[in-house]
Parts: sequence; C-alpha cells; structure tokens
Amino acid sequence: MTILLLGSGGREHALAWKMLQSLHCTQLFVAPGNAGTAAIATNVDINPNDFQAVKQFCLAHQVGMVVVGPEDPLVNGIYDFFKNDVELTAIPVIGPSKEGAQLEGSKEYAKQFLVRHHIPTARYESFTPETVEQGCAFLESLTAPYVLKADGLAAGKGVLILTDLEEAKTELRNMLVHAKFGSASAKVVIEEFLSGIELSCFVLTDGKSYKILPTAKDYKRIGEGDTGLNTGGMGAVSPVPFADAAFMEKVETRIVKPTIAGLQQENIEYKGFVFIGLIKVGDDPFVIEYNVRMGDPETEVVMPLLQSDLVAIFKAVAEQQLDTITLEIDPRSATTIMVVSGGYPEGYEKGKTISGLEAVKDSIVFHAGTKLQEGQVVSHGGRVLAVTSYGETYQEAIKKSYQNIAKLHFDKMYYRTDIGFDLF
Ligand code: AMP
Repeated sequence: MTILLLGSGGREHALAWKMLQSLHCTQLFVAPGNAGTAAIATNVDINPNDFQAVKQFCLAHQVGMVVVGPEDPLVNGIYDFFKNDVELTAIPVIGPSKEGAQLEGSKEYAKQFLVRHHIPTARYESFTPETVEQGCAFLESLTAPYVLKADGLAAGKGVLILTDLEEAKTELRNMLVHAKFGSASAKVVIEEFLSGIELSCFVLTDGKSYKILPTAKDYKRIGEGDTGLNTGGMGAVSPVPFADAAFMEKVETRIVKPTIAGLQQENIEYKGFVFIGLIKVGDDPFVIEYNVRMGDPETEVVMPLLQSDLVAIFKAVAEQQLDTITLEIDPRSATTIMVVSGGYPEGYEKGKTISGLEAVKDSIVFHAGTKLQEGQVVSHGGRVLAVTSYGETYQEAIKKSYQNIAKLHFDKMYYRTDIGFDLF
C-alpha cells in the first residue's frame, strides 16, 4: 500500500520510521517532511492544510491511506473532507472526524465532554467577553494559582498559570477583551489548579475498541530544572516509572474506557490516536487535556517501543477491527533528548550545518526541524533533532542519548542536560 503521511516534525520522522518497518507499506510519501524523512521516504511539497492539493496528490499516486501527524488538518476537518468526497471516500484517514478533533480544538468542548462522561478533571467554568466580570468573580472564589486557558488552538501557548489574583484578572481581560491569543481566546476556560506530577497516556481507537500504548513524560520548559519558557517539548521518557500497574488500572477504568464509550455514545467518529494529558494527584489520575494526535517528542519514544506492525494496526483501525490485534511492546525504556537552535523558543537562526550525524551509534536520530541544502543537512526550525535511545533502564537510555549528542554539532546548538533526572 502507498501511504501519505502529513507533517514535518520529529513525530512524523518517528511515524515514518515505524511504518517503513511494515511489509504493508510499499511506498511512503511525507508532506512536507524534513531531511530525516527524505532519507527514508519521499517528501512532497504540499501544505497539509491544503486539502485540494492533498486530494490531487492522493488521486495521482494511488494513495491507499492518509496518516495525519499534526492537529491542524484534523481540526480543519480532513477526515470529513475525505469521507464526503466520492473520489476519496475509499481512502482511510487515520485521525478523528472534525467533531472528534474538537476535543483538542476547543478546551470548553473537551471539558464539557469530560463532565458529561464523569471523567475526573479539574473543576472549571468558561467565560466570553460579555461575561468577563463574572470571570473575575469566579477567580475570586478560587485559591491561587489560577489557571486560564484560551479555548481555541494557540500553538501550545494559550494556558497561563498565575499566582497573583489581580494579575489573573488582568490576563483574563487581556485574553477575552484584548484578544491576547487572537480568536483562540474569545472564550476562556478558568480551572481549579491541580497539584501533582504530569504524564501522558496514548490510546489508539477505531471508534469501538482501543489499545493503550506506552505512557510518556515530557519536559516542556527550555531551562534546566524545568524552568524558563514553555517549548514544544525538550525531551521525553517512556514508559513513565511512576505509572505502575495499579495507577494504569485507574487510568483505564476511569478515563480511557469512558472516553471511548463517550465517543461511541455520541456518534463521534474517531479512528486515530487520543493523547490524554494526565496529572497524578496523590494516587489518582485527572485529565488535564485531550490531544487528537500523537505528541512530539513523545512519539519519538513511544514508536520505538511498539514492536507490532504499525501499518497493520492502522489498517485494523480503519476497518474497525482493532479488537483483533494484540500489541507487542518492547519491555525496555526509551528516552529522547531534543537538540534545539540557540534562542528557541524565542528568536533563533536557521540554516546551520549539522555535523556528526554519521558518528551516532546506538541511538536513533529523528529529525525535527531540518532540511537538505546543497546536499547538507541544515537546521530549519527551533527544535532540530530528537536523539532517542533504548536502555534496560531509563537511566541507561538517557546516558546513551547524551553520549551521542556529544558527537553532534551545529552553531548555537542547545539541549537540556537534565532530562529524566527528576525521576532518578
Ligand atoms: P494544557 O494545554 O491544557 O495541557 O495546559 C498546559 C499545561 O498547563 C499543562 O501541561 C499543565 O502543566 C498546566 N495545567 C493545565 N491545567 C492545569 C490544572 N488544572 N492544574 C495544574 N496545572 C495545569
């Protein structure tokens, strides 16, 4: 089968790497891809949000399946676009319908879904510009810290956590009245703050049954000790050592099962990944957020631990036969460390030549923001490379990644040196 994968990050390189291990995958196109995907598949210069261009490509190249990496094409309705087009309807899209993608596209939609299905989550209320004063009064009824969330997609930046009540009120006004996050903050969810340790649970569903993939913990901040600005993610560890069997049993019964049953009850078509952001409060899991695709950099640790054939799993998802599949999971640990451009997540330079890639042994380098320029691999984004390693323990895996990162170089390269250290 010919497969088209949409996206261009480390997540897509890891998905491509995994799909190419399958005998079912005879040809893989990645749109638009990066230098890493170019080395193993065929990159195509198409914007994943240009559905007409995606359509023409699929028809011209007999594409048999579309796998969607990032959230925007899903929130923009690529699943429905294929389903409703007579020429495309036979081509399965791995991802949720537009309705299902609202679990990520709207924080309020996700909270309402959680409440309707009695899934544990922080208490909340949502506000619009008309109800900004009620929002301030709601803040007064809470205790610090205050959690303000822009309802819509805000490139991972739409959540503010503030310790000062007056500042929280000011930011609420900035979001609602002064469009701090553009139209994404035309509605704001205010939540009770939950104190605990975060982790992510990844689920694949065909809309009827589900499979739980290994858990992961990512490191969001740019600085050592998880300080400084938020990023797309600076590293990840899988599986999460504190997510033991008893905790995962709670996650499955209290969160995963009611989520999948809720989608089914509400006739929300969903054939793809559900990424559940969790917080462990005491011994209990609460949902912080849903994402409707895999995480990045979590994919770079979860895919290497999946031993089963990913394309066979996707076919089963498309045909609603997921219950016939048994997942084989590598018992080892996997870790990934992100190598980024100096200055990221603020301004940074691109086009820096990357050296040392051929010297890496015993780690997998997934490309995140790279491109080929005159035959050389150069940086082309804030997050540049994800260096993934296996280990009998995660400590061993982390050590291997750091040993290999030492062989890599580009001007102003930066990475955190403490990924996973909080778990030791
Ligand atoms: P979200 O985009 O909803 O995942 O929020 C971004 C980050 O804000 C999360 O990864 C958490 O670190 C934090 N956060 C979100 N909601 C809460 C909450 N109710 N209590 C504590 N921290 C939260």
